[in-house]
Amino acid sequence: MPSGPVEELNPPRRTLLGPGPSDVDPRVLRAMSAPILGYLDPEFIKIMDGVAQMLREVFGTEESFTLPVSGTGSAGMEAALANLLEPGDVAVVVENGFFGLRLEEIASRQGATVVPVPVEWGRPADPEAVEAVLKQQQKVKLLAAVHAETSTGVLQPLDGLSKLAHDHDALFLVDAVTSLGGSPVDFDDVDIDFAYSATQKCLGAPPGMSPVAVSPRGLDAIKGRTEKARSWYLDLGLLLQYWAGGTRVYHHTAPMSMIYALREALRLVLQEGLENRFARHRRNGRALRAGLSALGLELLVPEEYCTYQLTSVHVPEGVDDAGLRRRLLTEYNIEIGGGLGQFASKMWRIGLMGESSTSSNVLILLSSLEALLPQFGYEVATGAGVAAASQSLASE
Ligand SMILES: *Cc1c(COP(=O)(O)O)cnc(C)c1O
Repeated sequence: MPSGPVEELNPPRRTLLGPGPSDVDPRVLRAMSAPILGYLDPEFIKIMDGVAQMLREVFGTEESFTLPVSGTGSAGMEAALANLLEPGDVAVVVENGFFGLRLEEIASRQGATVVPVPVEWGRPADPEAVEAVLKQQQKVKLLAAVHAETSTGVLQPLDGLSKLAHDHDALFLVDAVTSLGGSPVDFDDVDIDFAYSATQKCLGAPPGMSPVAVSPRGLDAIKGRTEKARSWYLDLGLLLQYWAGGTRVYHHTAPMSMIYALREALRLVLQEGLENRFARHRRNGRALRAGLSALGLELLVPEEYCTYQLTSVHVPEGVDDAGLRRRLLTEYNIEIGGGLGQFASKMWRIGLMGESSTSSNVLILLSSLEALLPQFGYEVATGAGVAAASQSLASE
């Protein structure tokens, strides 16, 4: 029996302080309601060119090709591996969190031989351990690492790994999903060959696109493949004929509204200025860390290698992880993340990404936690978290 339409759409307004998606500026949402154009309309091509140009600036590259792949961050990950790897190739993957494991899974589905470099979750990789693994292999096609591991909150230094990859004649692949727009990626300076990101973390757009950058060396490797990429949809050679060719060739219908959103989000990023944006993420991340510590909570990652856009904190002994997050959501309209993989139900992951990274969000979250934690059997000195965070904010 037909039951007719469901009720009118009316999602609540949350404050998104989880591992992504993050809050979206109204300017970005408004851009999504602009008229749809045909995929080869010259006016749309201009819009695409503007997006590619701004992406180059945000990635920190002059020579590379940039484009947003249709799909979320995982589509960029799959595009990287499907285009760079052929069956039998060796891929060395730094495995210090959940997304390192995803890289391994997707690489193995390309028929590559995956050699992990296991690293304790919550710590960055030791370049010597990576070098030892590279040396054991006769020929390595690529070395992959996650820059900002959203499952732990570690910021992996990239310089040493890039040099190691190139010393071993391998390509260097970087997951910049949570770093792009929040911490410097410096694509050219670090000498990265392929990086992918996502719109919904520190770039400030809704989920749905995965910006990627490919170096000339990365592109040569793609052009020199002996067999076609096994993904047609994510075939970069074909995508570049649409995004960067002299004559644009239809590949798949570009998701126009998402590209408008990304365009406006990138305009906001560049209007703020990359350095200012990184400083904002650092300032708010430090305040959050100070506040959580003042409440006696234990942070997973020491400051020397933490990412300020995502902070992992141990769920205190005896506190009901899911119960507290549920009340934070339903009573305070705040979303934070739970643990992933080996940290499931053991960790809270607090994101301060893009638009969500504000000093007021830090203070509101800390005061909400001060109100809720005692109700879950964890006593706090009321006001201590907010005071420590305020002091940290005032000192910068
Ligand atoms: C979120 C995330 C991904 C996956 O992105 P989706 O948009 O969820 O597909 C990959 N890598 C890292 C580091 C992430 O944080």
